[in-house]
Amino acid sequence: MADKPSDRTGPTRSEKPEKEVQEALRLAREAREHAYAPYSGFAVGAAVLAASGTIYAGCNVENVSLGATVCAERTAILRMVAAEGAQAVHLLAVVTDASVPTPPCALCLQVLAEFAVPECEVLLCEPHAVRERWRFSELLPRPFAPENGPASRPRA
Ligand SMILES: [Zn+2]
Repeated sequence: MADKPSDRTGPTRSEKPEKEVQEALRLAREAREHAYAPYSGFAVGAAVLAASGTIYAGCNVENVSLGATVCAERTAILRMVAAEGAQAVHLLAVVTDASVPTPPCALCLQVLAEFAVPECEVLLCEPHAVRERWRFSELLPRPFAPENGPASRPRA
């Protein structure tokens, strides 16, 4: 079994270069334009920077059942895994037009926990600007993770 992506060594950066931040913001903004949100009317775009250097974007895709709705953040992460396998995530950008910056929901934070490096940044953005910068660990300080979940069980 492969190591958890966030255990892999990758570039350690305390703050992402402005070029990567702007590119993530641009791709998240563009993905947001494809949001399928007929029920909430709340279009969200997201983008993740993988350890490979590739940025994957996603948008929210709602469903009439509501429970089958997939958030933009998870769409971006799933696109990353589908394209190049599990990768460590160094940055997540979330774009909305809400008056208050929109953080990822708890479900998306849990999915991000599977891939985020400890220093992963989460940028809460409006369409053309970063409004808040968070460390992933500030938004989800004690995630359910392999080391405190199934992998921590004694081996028979
Ligand atoms: Zn979510």
